[in-house]
Amino acid sequence: MAITYLDHAASAPMRPEAIEAMLPYLRDQYANPSGSHRFARQARQAVDESRDRVAAVLGCRPNDVVFTGCGTESDNMAITGAVTRSGGVAVCPATEHHAVLEVVEHHGGVVVGVDHAGRVDLGQLAPALDEIVAADRSVAIVSVMTVNNEVGSINDLEAVRRVVRRHSPGALLHTDAVQAPCWLDLRRVTPHVDLLALSAHKFGGPKGVGVLVENGGPKINPLIIGGGQERERRSGTHNTAGIVAASIALELTDAERATEVVRIAALRDRLVDELCARLNGVTETLDRSEKVAGSGHVCIEGIESEALLFLLDEEAVCASAASACASGAMEPSHVLAAMGVPAVRSLGALRLTLGHTTTDADVDRGVHVIIEAVQRLRSHTDRGIA
Ligand code: PLP
Repeated sequence: MAITYLDHAASAPMRPEAIEAMLPYLRDQYANPSGSHRFARQARQAVDESRDRVAAVLGCRPNDVVFTGCGTESDNMAITGAVTRSGGVAVCPATEHHAVLEVVEHHGGVVVGVDHAGRVDLGQLAPALDEIVAADRSVAIVSVMTVNNEVGSINDLEAVRRVVRRHSPGALLHTDAVQAPCWLDLRRVTPHVDLLALSAHKFGGPKGVGVLVENGGPKINPLIIGGGQERERRSGTHNTAGIVAASIALELTDAERATEVVRIAALRDRLVDELCARLNGVTETLDRSEKVAGSGHVCIEGIESEALLFLLDEEAVCASAASACASGAMEPSHVLAAMGVPAVRSLGALRLTLGHTTTDADVDRGVHVIIEAVQRLRSHTDRGIA
């Protein structure tokens, strides 16, 4: 059975060009880029060229790009690195990915509220920063994601920066931009932040490669120490093949973004419109003008996401409810709860995320299978919403 993949926000299929780009470094050019012989220097050059490509897309200096092992590591490095450097407090909104939220909580930080779209509420951020300063503490870092992984809303980092600079001038501003590269030109985000995290498997690169931009030079303590790679900022032998592939995937994503956003928004619109039109009790969680093109998110009355995802899985339709976690188990969405979505609605949450491989046929089949599955589930309940 062919797979209908509507879970690009969890992980995107690799771009063929990125797979091709990694093969030579797996097969033939396997030297350690930190070595001193010519074979090693060739690998080193591949890493440096990749760094140049990433910097060009992000609008930063190549030397400010640090390659890491994943998006989670980049977020941990930013927050833990800032807190251990300054001893100050970490702050983030309640809708951050666990890779940020749990680290902020681990360091005893402050979590602030969000608006109806899950964006940081600047009216809560400003007094939270004032309170920390008034208690004779400093703010080490404020972390606000660029694009939310569940509902696709977009934070205005320029506005966040203004609040942070005014209320806590010494604090670093970090953004988890892991869900952004397919939809937003990051050259417009990077200038507003001190730190920016990416993960290659979200834009057609391989799993196991992340990026942390330290905009304007080193500002934080390293998380992983040892061999001193990445100019002492992130030790560990470079994943040459993965880094090369990630940079190629990012470059292609950037080059195709303008046309892809239009193409994918049309597919997403049709997918969500058809579900809303052909099934009763389906509501969009967020207005489309407030979210990125690849994100569809609906709440379906009278069903539970877990049961729906089970039926979709039987038909090889891949989607999700809350974000994926290691156990694969369904947890109630902390994002929807923070946005004020009532628990009875978020029980039936369905996240459908599209990307570079999504076609009209995926939308046709997705709509058909989801409608049948919802009708089947409803026919088994007393609620009877057909
Ligand atoms: N941040 C966001 C917003 C994400 O969506 C994800 C992945 O789901 C991560 C961080 C973690 O990235 P990685 O899977 O590379 O650790």
